[in-house]
Amino acid sequence: MNELAALKGIGPKIIEKLNTLSIYNTNDLLEYYPRTYVDKTGISHISDIREGEYFSLKGILYNITSKQLPYGRRLHIVTAEFKDQTGQISVTWFNQPYLKNVLKENKMIYIYGKVEKKGFFYNMYNPDFSYNEKDFFIIQPIYSKNAKINQYEIRKAVKSAMDYSHVLVKDYFPEYLKERYNLCDKEFAVKNIHFPASSADFFAARRRLVFEEFFLMQLALVSLKSNMGKDKSPINISKFDMAREFVRSLPFTPTDAQLQSMKDIASDLSSGYSMHRLLQGDVGSGKTVVGLYAVMCAYRNDYQSAFMAPTEILALQHYRTAVELLNKFGLNIALLTGQLRKKEREDILNRIENGKVHLVIGTHAILQEDVIFHNLALCITDEQHRFGVQQRLILSSKGVKPHLLVMSATPIPRTLALILYGDLDISTLKELPKNRKKVLTYSVDESFRQRINNFIQKIVVKGEQAFVVCPAIYENDVLDVTNVLTKYEQLQTDIPSVKSAVLHGKMKKVEKNEVMEKFINNEISVLVTTSIIEVGIDIPNATLMVIEDAQQFGLSQLHQLRGRVGRSDKQSYCILFNQSSSDISKKRMDVMVQSNDGFYISEQDLLLRGPGDFFGTKQHGLPDFKIANLYTDMDILKDAQKAVQEEIRNNAIYRQLLGRELDYLSKAKL
Ligand code: ADP
Ligand code: MG
Repeated sequence: MNELAALKGIGPKIIEKLNTLSIYNTNDLLEYYPRTYVDKTGISHISDIREGEYFSLKGILYNITSKQLPYGRRLHIVTAEFKDQTGQISVTWFNQPYLKNVLKENKMIYIYGKVEKKGFFYNMYNPDFSYNEKDFFIIQPIYSKNAKINQYEIRKAVKSAMDYSHVLVKDYFPEYLKERYNLCDKEFAVKNIHFPASSADFFAARRRLVFEEFFLMQLALVSLKSNMGKDKSPINISKFDMAREFVRSLPFTPTDAQLQSMKDIASDLSSGYSMHRLLQGDVGSGKTVVGLYAVMCAYRNDYQSAFMAPTEILALQHYRTAVELLNKFGLNIALLTGQLRKKEREDILNRIENGKVHLVIGTHAILQEDVIFHNLALCITDEQHRFGVQQRLILSSKGVKPHLLVMSATPIPRTLALILYGDLDISTLKELPKNRKKVLTYSVDESFRQRINNFIQKIVVKGEQAFVVCPAIYENDVLDVTNVLTKYEQLQTDIPSVKSAVLHGKMKKVEKNEVMEKFINNEISVLVTTSIIEVGIDIPNATLMVIEDAQQFGLSQLHQLRGRVGRSDKQSYCILFNQSSSDISKKRMDVMVQSNDGFYISEQDLLLRGPGDFFGTKQHGLPDFKIANLYTDMDILKDAQKAVQEEIRNNAIYRQLLGRELDYLSKAKL
């Protein structure tokens, strides 16, 4: 039986909803920490509210309506007007039909929510409310949620889970550690992180949980370092003549930065120690050939290499590049992905094991146990932030202390790199190849629609190609953003002469590859897609990137997306449809229009979004902390670092925690 069913007031319906948040048992609930809190004390007047901010209001409701929207959209809406002495706003609740029996007209009510503006009118969507002043003025947790479940349901479930906290919550920290670092008990922390009795209790709870998270992270890094630290390597790479020849054979002149990175790599490979190098470089800076240079070094010295990419599409692309650039040197290259037929796969595995294959390019499929190498000397992971630490470890365990090169397009602030990649040496490709023209970027609104459609048509007539990126795949009832399927139909109507196709993550692999293949061969001119296209795709003939609802994307993500064009000597363009009139969106678009520099853009991202958000995002390949914030909790991080060092010295808790730490490693993405 489902463990959640044992909780008070939790039925199968709620369980299903909780599952959509990846909550499957009581412990998941206890560890589902609030995203933020509302301290709803302090009531505002309607005359003082501003768009985009949260307010508590006291007033009455009138004109309550409740209706089911047609078109089978499964959308139910309750609307009402709300007024106090100073003005009125509209309030709207989605998909909570029972509210029509709960809400009363002309009775004093408290509401709390984010103020939005439609035309001249203010609105609150799904506000919290209560008729009881006492219920309302508390510090209330706000959880991350999706459209299927609401705050009340999550809160109720977490409350019920608390009944079991004394059994489930395990305190791994010994008393002396808690005392030394001023940490409260774990159970107290869990209780008060959800339902803090006071702000002092909240801070104590948070400190404890943040400390624990950092402690585990540091422990994971320490063990990573001892697993992969600077070891003497039995691999002997001393001949570089063929790699040099490879560089001379390239169809372009490498940039100075590329040449320098190759030098770094050559010196690592011949040092007698395993290489641990991070190759960092903005999109389009040409990391791939630097990786292939390393492959050539290994090949000339009779070793095998593995090159791992996060998606099938990328693996296929690298495979083509490698075949084109390396085949002439006699390398045998195999592509190993999840879609091979059994017979094909067996054949490839045999050739890898016998050493007949010199370079294996593939996805996670390379990690499988039955993939056995003959003499693996070099492991390359591309767009490495997509891989977990453990995957990196598995790959390198397929050789004897192989050299490691990780490639990433995500600029990481220096201080953070030191904490996270303490043991990795870093090469940076700062300059782009010289033949590149700056991608001309424009931020536009809906009034430009016709002109942009004409523009798409124009570049297609020239024989060039375009991406149209949307923030969603399907139509969505709650979020009103452009989706791939509708956009595709629109393009068919608006510019029927242009051959377009859809590509998104929910399609079957075979379908995806087929579309990609056609796009590469220019049988399709416009690819209507999502940010799936963000990672690494290299189609030099694509010269136009149109981003719908650009305000929905983070700046670094926009920059990655834009990096998909401007990959040849042709002039490329990026059109950002900004559907928001807010100042902050305008500023963000301005940054994109003015700059093509990934490091600058990530800095601006930090400034405009605030550090919490910046460091919380996955784009930096940081582990997903449940609660800690690398920027604002720097002090706690230092304490945790110190504690880990002490503990490792006297070795007590280290072993006890090892189980959890390994679990952590498998989730962390470093
Ligand atoms: P990224 O760093 O984003 O992975 P790629 O390795 O995919 O970039 O390179 C982008 C494109 O630039 C490829 O088509 C590649 O062949 C080309 N390229 C790489 N280096 C140079 C160079 N020095 N001059 C001209 N084109 C280059
Ligand atoms: Mg790349």
